[in-house]
Amino acid sequence: MAIHFVCHREPVRAWRSPEIPGRQLFPQEIASLSLAMTPNNMMKKNMEERESIGLKDVAADVRALLEYAATLGMKEVPIADLPASARREPSEARGIAASEKRTVAQEPVVAEEQLTPADKAKAMAALREEMGDCRRCKLYKGRTHLVFGEGNPDARLMFVGEGPGQDEDLQGRPFVGAAGQLLTKIIEAMGLKREDVYIANIVKSRPPNNRNPEPDEVAACIPFLHRQIEIVAPDVIVCLGSVAMQNLLGTEEKITRMRGHFKDWRGIPVMPTYHPAFLLRNAAMKKPVWEDMKKVMEKLGAKSK
Ligand code: SF4
Repeated sequence: MAIHFVCHREPVRAWRSPEIPGRQLFPQEIASLSLAMTPNNMMKKNMEERESIGLKDVAADVRALLEYAATLGMKEVPIADLPASARREPSEARGIAASEKRTVAQEPVVAEEQLTPADKAKAMAALREEMGDCRRCKLYKGRTHLVFGEGNPDARLMFVGEGPGQDEDLQGRPFVGAAGQLLTKIIEAMGLKREDVYIANIVKSRPPNNRNPEPDEVAACIPFLHRQIEIVAPDVIVCLGSVAMQNLLGTEEKITRMRGHFKDWRGIPVMPTYHPAFLLRNAAMKKPVWEDMKKVMEKLGAKSK
């Protein structure tokens, strides 16, 4: 079934309409609702209101979701009503079951309740300062920029990749190349913005020719990732690809076996899934990744079916 894109402004109203009771809108429903609202007087009436609440951004989000859904061959589109800012709320309100909260028996992490968002931003800045012009392993020799990580230090969702590629090395930011653009689409399809989540890598300097980081390099660098996770204290971590998964979880299992099932890192649920770069080469794998992300959304308390 093809997804029919219509004028940006109209599906946005359909998407947000309080008159739509269900959690899901089918593409054809979006289209038909949109058509029902095309009269000029309706558009005129709503134009001011829409622009005042920044619906251009929302339209971009909806379009990203529909485009991603179309690439998956999806016939229906979930509405994720995660708070746009991924605000933290009490665990119960977030839909995180008491049994899923981290326990004190595990290695202590920075208790999220003890750090305000401002505290976390300061702690992250201090950690970056501590890394400085890091030469703790040989990867520093080939890098242009150290790629520390970026995003909301108080995020509920954190993505962990393997290491910077060429684009990331040149820009000093994680996941900004083609694979990064796909990751951004996935994040937006989940009802979030890229700046709502936190993104970091196992190693923060680019390995030569994008080879996998070696054990001594991981050993030197991964403590910084651990501390980033401790500061963010996310509700869920998504590991992108086998290298990220194996090094964070300390396993040699293959990603094909592990993806789609929640694991645990010091009390934080971890969802391993395929790396976006792999999806660029294997479009058929986008669908299982979306299935994994739906589980993540459910864990975060999002409405998804
Ligand atoms: S990979 Fe990590 S430990 Fe190695 S030089 Fe870069 S920042 Fe330092």
